Parts: sequence; structure tokens; C-alpha cells
Amino acid sequence: MMAAQNLDHLIDQLPKVRGTLTANAPIARLTWFRVGGNAEVLFDPADQDDLQSFLTALPLDIPVTILGGASNLIIRDGGISGVTIRLGRAFTDVAVDGSVVTASAAAMDITVSRKARNSEIGGLEFLSGIPGSIGGAVRMNAGAYETEINDVLIEATAIDRQGNLHRKTPAELGYTYRHCDAPEDWIFLSAQLQGQLGNADAISTRMEEIASARENSQPIRERTGGSTFKNPDDHKAWQLIDKAGCRGLQRGGAQVSNTHCNFLINTGTATAADLEGLGEEVRRRVEDETGIKLEWEIKRIGALPTVGGAS
Ligand SMILES: Cc1cc2nc3c(=O)[nH]c(=O)nc-3n(C[C@H](O)[C@H](O)[C@H](O)COP(=O)(O)OP(=O)(O)OC[C@H]3O[C@@H](n4cnc5c(N)ncnc54)[C@H](O)[C@@H]3O)c2cc1C
Repeated sequence: MMAAQNLDHLIDQLPKVRGTLTANAPIARLTWFRVGGNAEVLFDPADQDDLQSFLTALPLDIPVTILGGASNLIIRDGGISGVTIRLGRAFTDVAVDGSVVTASAAAMDITVSRKARNSEIGGLEFLSGIPGSIGGAVRMNAGAYETEINDVLIEATAIDRQGNLHRKTPAELGYTYRHCDAPEDWIFLSAQLQGQLGNADAISTRMEEIASARENSQPIRERTGGSTFKNPDDHKAWQLIDKAGCRGLQRGGAQVSNTHCNFLINTGTATAADLEGLGEEVRRRVEDETGIKLEWEIKRIGALPTVGGAS
């Protein structure tokens, strides 16, 4: 983490906001893995106008990072420099019009799925098992059970680093498996999702099936980050990991889940370095065993700790 005088210099350059700016903010507690160093500055904007005027006035050399539900992230132990933005209450609206659901970026996927079900709208059940936010889902092209965001998105609204707004269709966002081509600095603000009118009981049943399938097959009560690696073409990552003998493999407090071996777990004392190092070890072993190079699905962000362990 930055020396105190550099942090003071960063804070001096920040535009005035109506929301909350917190210096040296602990953010591990906001993540599913519960690891990682502090954010130099954490910004919780009061609303979209506050975010837009902040980005417009923020000097361009100050890095900006956006966090959603942090369910697909390892934040490194050295923390995140610059400004980390986490959208709060002002970005959680979910509205329904006919069979279209419009969700703000910080609305959780499960909330959107339930709101759709309560309005007798089907087609969004897949979101009920994904523990992130709509913003994260739009960025990651989140998906499950043969449906992904790309299939249901009508249009997403984003704001760029200079504060300009963009409205884009899925075709313009260049979606592929768990990937979106939108510029890295875009912050998604909302998404319009296309459902289909259906029957609330049938939709509930589908959501219950999804919940129980996950309960049985994923370590959903652990400190985890979802699927660690993307499934390579024609392969399941978990099968390759299993074949390479990595089920249960440990490094420090990090472990490859015994329940689902494409999940890493913080058993309680893991650092981000333990988790990332274990992931790299798995990649090495899978490549040695199968010749296939796994690609990380989990995003790793932030800095390594400085020598001596200060963060
Ligand atoms: C138990 C478990 C099960 C999971 N199952 C699935 C699954 O079935 N399918 C699946 O696809 N994923 C799954 N995941 C992974 C994860 O939930 C998804 O990738 C989710 O969409 C991430 O959303 P998030 O809000 O948590 O994003 P984060 O983890 O906070 O961020 C992920 C990336 O999105 C970016 N981001 C976040 N919000 C925004 C925004 N508003 N605008 C722009 N970029 C943003 C971040 O900068 C980062 O690069 C699972 C995770 C867990 C822990």
C-alpha cells in the first residue's frame, strides 16, 4: 500500500462527492474468499450523477477498479491502488415492464430472479444460483444451465472512465464464454433483460431445482470464488483437475475443493498468494498431465505485497 504522504496526495486530488470516500479501506470482508489487502480509497457513490461527476473530474492517471459482489475475484494481498468503486443501495433497483426486467448493476442476481418469478416471468431462473451482482454478470457473461447473460440481455448501460454513458446490445459487447469485449474501464450501470411470461409455480420449482443441484455439487457455504478456470473447448475443467490428481491439494490455507475440484477454498487462514499460487500449481499439473493449459476464470486484481509483508 502507498506511503502515507502518497495517500494524502491521492486524497487531495479526489473530486468532491455526495457519497462516501474511505481511505485505506479493508475490503477482504466484502469478498467471497475473504482475502486481500485494502483499497487505497473506496468510493460508494450516492447515485449515478455523483458517480458521473466524480469520473469526469478524476485525473486520468488515477486507476479505477470496480467491484461487484466480489464472488469471482481474488484481491491480492498488497491491496488495490487508486480508487475502488463499489456500487451501493442507489444502484439496486429492479423494475418490470411486461416480460422485460430492468436491473441496476448492484442488484444481486438472486433478487432479479426472484422479482421476475414474482411477476410471473421465466427465463431468468439461471441467475438464481449465481451469487454475484448484475454488473458482474454483464461483465463476466455469467451463465449456468445452458443460459448466459448474452442470451437474455437486450441492452446494457455503462459509464466509461471519462464519465461518458454508453448503451450497448449484446452483439456490440462481443460476448463469448465468460467474456465480454467491453473496454476494461467501463462500469456497467444497468441491464435490460428479456424474460418470458410464465407460471410462478413452475418458475419457483425450477429455482428450487437449481438451488438443490448447487447445494449437492458445489461448496456454496465455503469461502470460495466459483469456477476457478474456464472449461476448455470439449473439456470440463474439473475433470482435468481431477485427472491431474489435484482434488484436495493444499497450499497454506488454500485448498482445491473436495466437493467440486474446479473450486478453490479458503479454509480459514489463506492469503490471496496461497489461493493464486495453488491455482498456478493446478494449472502446471494439469498441463503436465494433459497438455491443456487452463485459463483463469476468476479475476485476480491488485498488487502483490511489498517485500517485508507491509500492505
Ligand atoms: C459459489 C459460487 C458459485 C458460482 N457459480 C457461478 C455460475 O454458475 N456461473 C457463473 O457464470 N459464475 C458463477 N460464479 C462466479 C460469479 O458469481 C460470477 O462470475 C458473477 O457474475 C460475478 O459477479 P460479481 O458481482 O460478484 O462480480 P465480481 O466478482 O465483483 O467481479 C468480477 C469481474 O466483474 C467486474 N465487475 C463487477 N461489477 C461490475 C460492473 N458494475 N461493471 C463492470 N465490471 C464489473 C469486476 O471488475 C471483475 O472484473 C460463482 C461464484 C461462487 C462463489
